Amino acid sequence: VFAGLAQAPEDPILGVTVAYNKDPSPVKVNLGVGAYRTEEGKPLVLNVVRRAEQMLINNPSRVKEYLPITGLADFNKLSAKLIFGADSPAIQENRVATVQCLSGTGSLRVGGEFLARHYHERTIYIPQPTWGNHPKVFTLAGLTVRSYRYYDPATRGLDFQGLLEDLGSAPSGAIVLLHACAHNPTGVDPTLDQWEQIRQLMRSKALLPFFDSAYQGFASGSLDQDARSVRMFVADGGELLMAQSYAKNMGLYGERVGALSIVCGSADVAVRVESQLKLVIRPMYSNPPIHGASIVATILKDSAMFNEWTVELKGMADRIISMRQQLFDALKTRETPGDWSHIIKQIGMFTFTGLNSDQVAFMRQEYHIYMTSDGRISMAGLSARTIPHLADAIHAAVTK
Ligand code: PMP
Repeated sequence: VFAGLAQAPEDPILGVTVAYNKDPSPVKVNLGVGAYRTEEGKPLVLNVVRRAEQMLINNPSRVKEYLPITGLADFNKLSAKLIFGADSPAIQENRVATVQCLSGTGSLRVGGEFLARHYHERTIYIPQPTWGNHPKVFTLAGLTVRSYRYYDPATRGLDFQGLLEDLGSAPSGAIVLLHACAHNPTGVDPTLDQWEQIRQLMRSKALLPFFDSAYQGFASGSLDQDARSVRMFVADGGELLMAQSYAKNMGLYGERVGALSIVCGSADVAVRVESQLKLVIRPMYSNPPIHGASIVATILKDSAMFNEWTVELKGMADRIISMRQQLFDALKTRETPGDWSHIIKQIGMFTFTGLNSDQVAFMRQEYHIYMTSDGRISMAGLSARTIPHLADAIHAAVTK
């Protein structure tokens, strides 16, 4: 019955790894997918995660029962505290409804479905460009997706004027997707002063913020610093949605552990919001998996483990920052034409190189370097060993 089915295209991001795996070249480099790699090019399991898993295994009272629809209660409380801050008025006033979801993607999807059912304005504005899955997740959730200007290719920085104009002309009440930090794919974030202007504009037009936080602690190395944009929007007492992922900052990619928090106007509303979130979740996957959330809760509730985590997290962030400097220096040494300062200015996992799709194809063909066709490279996939090869390839691509 499916004989007439067309072959679906590969996912634009995950498909890069599929192509990379097929390449027999010994010098190939995968800069496509956003997963951390060590200096030796290996995936990393944090020591604190291994320790937490050992503790869970050794606990004789550990069971494999279903979690509630909303997930692990401790995990939810600790996740809200992590992103909003322990002293957050919204948490103290019990105005936050948090549910454990399937990593960042699942949190965005549950939030999108909830909004499509219960919010009066079904249009969501996403930045141009943004993570490629955003428009698909929200469209399938039942929202209408529009975009707002974000990136200016001329300056390789923020198109702040364009952003203000587009949000300024959005219909009152529209939803706005904001990357909490380390914007993917551009690595360009608003300054704190610009965030404050965005906040004022959004609150004055009753635009509803939906934050996506996939890189807390991974951008600057500080969990609090990377949450500053979000906390500005909580401090004003207004409402918002927050999708959190532990894929990058705890290295729990495959555990699919994340959280959706909805900051409400009152404790009473938060209780009703949570009850409705359960109705969204139950027919989708009944309840979330227990293992990843147990690891996260074990680490977040123990101050020694929490501190150990922050040190390991900073280690990952610092290695990425050092890769930026090394790549920048390597291009300078080669006197590669162009201004490459955006490599050290952009933050987070990715550099939006400015290379076009022809140059990207050339580098794949001639140098076996794999990246998404928009010229985004994952800095976490680089090492001191591979940087000269990448710099040679970029030099050849821009001078050919
Ligand atoms: N949002 C952004 C901006 C991302 O970059 C990612 C991961 N690439 C996610 C959400 C979701 O990741 P996950 O579902 O693995 O947590």
